[in-house]
Amino acid sequence: MNVLVTGGAGYIGSIVVEQLIKAGDDVVVFDNLYQGHRAAVHPKAVFVQGDLADRAAIDATLAAHRPDAIMHFASYTLVGESMLHPFMYLGDNVTNGLNLLRSALEHGVKKFILSSTANLFDKPERMPIDENERIIPGSPYGESKNILERILFWLDRTQGMRYACLRYFNACGASEERGEHHDPETHIIPLVLQVALGQRADFAIFGDDYPTPDGTCVRDYIHVIDLAQAHILALRALDEGSRTYNLGNGRGFSVKEVIDMAREVTGHPIPTRVVARRPGDPAVLVASSEKIRRELGWEPKYPELRTILETAWAWHVSHPHGYPADA
Ligand code: UDP
Repeated sequence: MNVLVTGGAGYIGSIVVEQLIKAGDDVVVFDNLYQGHRAAVHPKAVFVQGDLADRAAIDATLAAHRPDAIMHFASYTLVGESMLHPFMYLGDNVTNGLNLLRSALEHGVKKFILSSTANLFDKPERMPIDENERIIPGSPYGESKNILERILFWLDRTQGMRYACLRYFNACGASEERGEHHDPETHIIPLVLQVALGQRADFAIFGDDYPTPDGTCVRDYIHVIDLAQAHILALRALDEGSRTYNLGNGRGFSVKEVIDMAREVTGHPIPTRVVARRPGDPAVLVASSEKIRRELGWEPKYPELRTILETAWAWHVSHPHGYPADA
């Protein structure tokens, strides 16, 4: 298949591109390099530097490359930032997604995969969280994804758009050549590993007074290659209808457990300090991925926290300053 990947220079997008190419698909990456890195784009992918605010640029890309399907990763992705700057999310994330969807339909592209999020579930009633859980977004970020999920629901019913919404819990880990590099970095695993590399003095734990066994937040960490495989399975299944899946390993680890495992994997003491809670963070988020296992036969290859941290650490050691700066 020929797949257009927005955000294909970003962390998750670039690794999905790598896995698509490995599976024999053709890929066009559309990315504005706001958070993405040119060096993260697989050399066999066509790269278009463009912004989803620019409908003409999207139209030109679709007309030139005629993709069969679109995977949409490009968006603002930070819960904390969305609490401070809601219009980046409720505005830009939504309108950019709409621009892409309008252009897609105008060019006859009716297969669409949306990067969605566990932040749809701020007050889950059951743990692990399955697809029947009531949606209560935890932040403007989560709400922006919820709005796009609802738009897709209606485009399926009115326009024949076939979609998959994949709600990631905490994506982490690395492939051999691609890993996690944000600027500024805000995610737990790269921050902890930067302490181990001697690039930061310590790691700030956002609150240790949550109602969890050790007081720190519990998350479900899922390896980015396992996420990528889920995208590829979902893409192949779109002809049979639209679908929505929660993606995690079904096991939670606290912030303190992640740090302890990073100490074991890196052999570094990783000093910490406790600071205030980060607004928008729920106490516990653990996914049930039974539905995608049952329906698509998805099986994570890297479910262990140790392996996740080992792959992330290997990438950080081989790329201590992340990707090279873009020219
Ligand atoms: N976290 C933390 N300190 C940091 C960054 C993250 O304690 O500097 C915690 C955060 O509160 C959350 C977990 O680590 O419970 C994962 O956060 P991250 O930002 O990596 O992913 P998110 O859960 O926001 O998608």
